[in-house]
Order: sequence, then structure tokens, then C-alpha cells
Amino acid sequence: MKICLFWHRRDLRTHDNAGLAAALASGLPVVPLFIYDKEILDHLPEKADARLTFIYDEVEKLAAETEKAGGTFLARYGAPLAVLETLLKEFEVAAVHTNEDYEPYATKRDAAVGKLLKKHDVEFHSYKDQVVFAKEEIMTKSGTVPKVFGAYLKTYTAKLTDEMLLPYGSADAFKKAHLHSFSKEKAGPRPTLESMGFARKEQYFPPVKLPAESIVRNYHKTRNTPADEHGTTRESLNLRFGTLSVREVMRQAKGLNAKLLAEIIWRDFFMMLLWHFPNTATESYDPKMRDVPYRNNEDEFRAWCEGRTGYPLVDAGMRELNETGYLPNRVRMTVAGFLVKHLFIDWRWGEQYFADKLLDYEMANNVGNWQWMAGTGAISAPWFRVHSPESQLAQVDPELKYVKRWVPEVGTKSYPAPIVDHKFARERSVEAIRTARIAAS
Ligand SMILES: Cc1cc2nc3c(=O)[nH]c(=O)nc-3n(C[C@H](O)[C@H](O)[C@H](O)COP(=O)(O)OP(=O)(O)OC[C@H]3O[C@@H](n4cnc5c(N)ncnc54)[C@H](O)[C@@H]3O)c2cc1C
Repeated sequence: MKICLFWHRRDLRTHDNAGLAAALASGLPVVPLFIYDKEILDHLPEKADARLTFIYDEVEKLAAETEKAGGTFLARYGAPLAVLETLLKEFEVAAVHTNEDYEPYATKRDAAVGKLLKKHDVEFHSYKDQVVFAKEEIMTKSGTVPKVFGAYLKTYTAKLTDEMLLPYGSADAFKKAHLHSFSKEKAGPRPTLESMGFARKEQYFPPVKLPAESIVRNYHKTRNTPADEHGTTRESLNLRFGTLSVREVMRQAKGLNAKLLAEIIWRDFFMMLLWHFPNTATESYDPKMRDVPYRNNEDEFRAWCEGRTGYPLVDAGMRELNETGYLPNRVRMTVAGFLVKHLFIDWRWGEQYFADKLLDYEMANNVGNWQWMAGTGAISAPWFRVHSPESQLAQVDPELKYVKRWVPEVGTKSYPAPIVDHKFARERSVEAIRTARIAAS
């Protein structure tokens, strides 16, 4: 019996899933698949990783859902190309369907997968699912890649129709008639965390559901108040792993809060930029910013990582990140700005630290925002703008509610003095960057 594989990657859901809906409508019986990618897992810094725990639990939920609907769910561990090659030997695969992924590693991997499948005469289809507009769907009037968010947003919202946000009918089609089932022996066991050399890490994960309507309605008033745990939607983890679809999230925001809709569109924007400029994952977009003589002092970097800089908002943020894997956007901006401007440390060090720690770590958003803060990106805050962490604290947490939650010793003798003076640090980085830019031009 010829089957079609639906390969889940960053879309761990059966509802409103473009690729899954297409597979289920293809006429071939569908077998959903997840591959624990050894090439990604080998780079995780710790053997107990909360993100892998989240993925594992969601994959197991998908497997249970598939079995309940009368089908078989395959899960494997290994390098995707090798795993697929084995599956082609084990099963009569006529087609593989999946959703597009725009990261540099994923685009290379998918090109190789496409070649392999072609060699075996197996169809390979991938669909836009993770974003609403991708690649070259929104360009400037002169046909170039948009680098001004305001103009991109204007074109985006003018093009965005309610129909585009309608859900794909994958959940309704997900039933025995469209799925295929194998015996347990034929399907083989699914990997466990232990069998892959990992352990569980329990951490708080926001629930897999849309945020409460009140959060969405008030978003523009509460988003910059880090002490308010309901000030933002906390939907980033679910968007990262596709446990919620971007369409349902946008549908909710579109009717209720234009500011929130715009923030979600930043995600499409950064994914579009990374797809056009894959080199920016590891180097500054702006050539004039590629030879900035960062100080990269390791002791100061450790003080930043551990929340010991003597700047309460920076320290509170880093301690929250270390403990929970989350940080509100406003505080992400403060800690990032402090690292690249005050300590004058390469943005890539901070980007990597966030990649190791954030539950919602997402390359396009992380790189895009770090380059924004460092003044090195395709779109950036001006490189010479250096905000004082003290005045930011006065703006966003004047009563120190957030700070005291994470740095209880603030204001006592055991709290360290500032690691560097704001005015001195600002002049130091601005002068060094100015000189580097002149030398590069
Ligand atoms: C230095 C830095 C690094 C960041 N790294 C990441 C990352 O790795 N992964 C990630 O998802 N976000 C990242 N962000 C963006 C943003 O901080 C988070 O998306 C947001 O804080 C997540 O919380 P939330 O879901 O409650 O957001 P909300 O404020 O409720 O926003 C809703 C959604 O809109 C999107 N969004 C909001 N702000 C941004 C933004 N500035 N850029 C892109 N998308 C945005 C996210 O998908 C978010 O879930 C980073 C921001 C900075 C300044």
C-alpha cells in the first residue's frame, strides 16, 4: 500500500495546518512523522532541556491523537536525511508533505531532502504555514527587500484579508479514512528522552491556547509593564513550535488590538529578512559594522549572564531568564542594549546566550532583534543611541515591583555597585563605533 508521509517540524498541531491539510486531501493514506534531529539536539548545551521536554510531550500528544483517529504516528531519532532514506526502504512512500521553514539550516536540509526524494521518485511538497506572507510576497514598490518596518506593515495590512486567516481544515480531515495504520512492530518504537540521551526538565510552559481576550484588549496599555504577568500574550512558545497557528493568533489580534497585530507581524518580517539574508544569522548585516572592536571582556560577560551588573533592571531580567527561560520584550531590549552598548560585547555572544536559555528561542526573531539593538541589522535602532538602564527602570518599573521579585537584595549592602558608569560607557561605544565606521567606508 502506497502511503504519504506528513513530516511535522515546527508545526506540532493537527488543527489549521496547511501541509497536513494538503496531505490529507492528497488521496493517499497519510502517516504523520516527527524526526528528532540529531544535528540540532547535539548542539543543545544541557542534557536536560525544557524545550526538548516540551517538544517530546507535544509529539506524544500528536501520536495519541493519531492513534485515537485510527492511524499510526512515526517518530524517529537521527539525521533527517538518513532517517528518511531508511523510511523509504521500510515503507512504500509515494509522497512527503511538510511545511516550509525559512532558517538557513532548514532551507539547506530541505534542498537535500528534495534531491534524495527525487532520486527515489518520491514527490516532495512543502507549504507556507508558519507565516502569512513569506519570501518575496511583500516587496517595496521598486521591487527590493523591505527594510523599513512601517512601510512593510502598511503594505502587509493592506494585503491581509480575513480569508487569508481562515483555518485550514486539517482537524476535520484527520480521521481514519485519510490515515494509515501499521502494526506496532512495523511502525517501530518512538524514541524517549532517555533513549536519545536526555532527561526531562520541568519548567513553566504557557498553556497551549489563545490568550484571554482581556489580555489582548489591554495589550497596548500593559505590554511595557514587566511586573504585570498578564501584560503580554505569552504566545511566543506556541508560535515557535506551532502548537498554535499564526493564523488563529492573528485572527484574534486583528479584531481586538492593532498594536498586538503589528507585533506579531514583526515575526513575519524577521523571518522574511533571514530568508533573504541567511548570512545575518552569524554576521552583521551592515558591512560598516562588521569590524567594530568589541571589548568582549569575559568577566563582564559572566556578570551579565548571572545578573550581577549592579543595574537592577538588567540583573532582574537576566535572573528571570535563567530561572524561567522567559523575559518580557521590554526587558529583553534593556539587557541586550546593556550588553552591546555599555559592556561593548559582540551581539553574537548575547544572541547565543539567549539561544541557549529562551524557551521561545527562534533564530529569525532573536538575530533580528539582537542586530536591531546592536545597530548592525538590516533594520536597526541607531548605533549611537544608548539608553540609560536607570531611566528605563524609572519608566517601566518605578515601584521596583518587577526588580524586587528577581533581585530581592536591591538597595541593600549586598547588592553590587554598577559595573560601569553609564555616561562613560556610552561615550566609549559611540566613539569606537564611529571610528570603525569611518575606517570601513
Ligand atoms: C534581544 C531580543 C531577542 C529576542 N528573541 C526572541 C526569540 O528568540 N524568539 C521570539 O519569539 N521572540 C524574540 N524576541 C521578541 C519578543 O521579545 C518576544 O517575542 C516576546 O517577548 C514574547 O512574549 P509574548 O509572546 O508575551 O509577546 P507579545 O508581546 O504578547 O507579542 C505577541 C507575539 O508577537 C511577536 N513579537 C512580539 N514582539 C516581537 C519582536 N520584537 N520581534 C519579533 N516578534 C515579536 C511574538 O511572536 C510574540 O509572541 C526578542 C526580542 C529581543 C529584544
